[in-house]
Amino acid sequence: MSDHAILSPSASSRWLVCTPSARMEEPYRDEKPGDAAEEGTLAHLLADTFIKYRLKRISKLDMDVIVKGVEAHRLYMPAMRKHVDDYVAYIFEQYNTALVHTNDAQLITEEKTDLRAYVPDGDGTVDVKIIADTTLRIIDLKFGKGVPVSAVENKQLMLYALGSYLEYNFMYDIQNVHMTIYQPRLDSVTNYIIPVADLLEWAESVVKPRAKLAFKGQGDFVAGDHCNFCKVKGTCRAVAEYNLELAKFEFAAAHQLTDLEISDILSRAEQFKSWLKGVEDQALHDAVNKGRKVPGYKVVMGKSNRKYSSEDKVAAALLSIGYTESDIYKPKALLGLQDLEGKTGKDEFAKFVAPLLIKPQGQPTLAPLTDERPEYSTKGAAQADFANVDLSEHLAAEQVKTIRQKSKKDTDVSNLF
Ligand code: SF4
Repeated sequence: MSDHAILSPSASSRWLVCTPSARMEEPYRDEKPGDAAEEGTLAHLLADTFIKYRLKRISKLDMDVIVKGVEAHRLYMPAMRKHVDDYVAYIFEQYNTALVHTNDAQLITEEKTDLRAYVPDGDGTVDVKIIADTTLRIIDLKFGKGVPVSAVENKQLMLYALGSYLEYNFMYDIQNVHMTIYQPRLDSVTNYIIPVADLLEWAESVVKPRAKLAFKGQGDFVAGDHCNFCKVKGTCRAVAEYNLELAKFEFAAAHQLTDLEISDILSRAEQFKSWLKGVEDQALHDAVNKGRKVPGYKVVMGKSNRKYSSEDKVAAALLSIGYTESDIYKPKALLGLQDLEGKTGKDEFAKFVAPLLIKPQGQPTLAPLTDERPEYSTKGAAQADFANVDLSEHLAAEQVKTIRQKSKKDTDVSNLF
């Protein structure tokens, strides 16, 4: 889960493609992690603690102390416990299945793996390994809920698999690696199996040469989807040029864009927006933290709204001069769906809240053809819209039209309407 090496497995989808990126990101490596990363650390700590306790590697007292600490954290929510419990249950399901076939199957958790045979200074921490018979399992908990992450050809897991294989192949006849990404908040479990021979071939022909370049900060800058999480995407020339290609589009000479041209622009819109936001964020970050000045811009304090220093004191003051509670308090309101699910946990939410949910129809939105949702029928929509027309408004408009036509014959009454 956490990687502190310069060529970290978690950034390998970038430095294996854009080799100079790791050194470019180096100055930002020690920045304080955001809430999402901290949440992930808490979830991993809980999971590791529960697994170790079930394996009798730590005492109940040790477990209770750690759990109490996590529960006291500002980012802890009961739903985290539920997700972690499900993940731990999954791990033991896999482990017990392995034990059925191989009674000396091993379950190893949060173990550092050494990648230096292929990646200079390379290491990483693997969430869970299960070694049984000829198969090495690598299981990675991803606690994020923003972007689904697939295990298929996942470079981070392939590096974890490589390091783990190198460590254990002396003791076990490992032939295949089975990698899993467990992402509970997106209900996603993805798997990928690769023969060891293919993994080693990839390590030799791709990882070794590219890691060598990356460690020295050499090679070509190569921009693409992998730039989305790059810490320097806001100042990187390669990604700027990549995105600005859009502006150099060779448009047809006609006054209006063709459907194909619009389609091409839309297909790059997300990447473009994400890059623009990255430039903005980086400029602000560097201006605030490094005093870097961008010509034509300055840092100012954002607008803020007045707020109560103490709601209790304001209420007490108003109640003391005769206002009632219904005068000064809002009616009770339920938490939003996600916060409520966070409080109740998935099971109780499913049992007591889900049957009472309705899903209003969404607004039409453009999506690529690969989107799984069925296509919206614009013809049907027009009919539906017509069905909703307020006839009284329609009739009133007809009456106005009639009076206006009449008024042309008589006297000018347009200023009456
Ligand atoms: S933004 Fe993209 S091209 Fe630039 S350094 Fe990062 S990964 Fe490489």
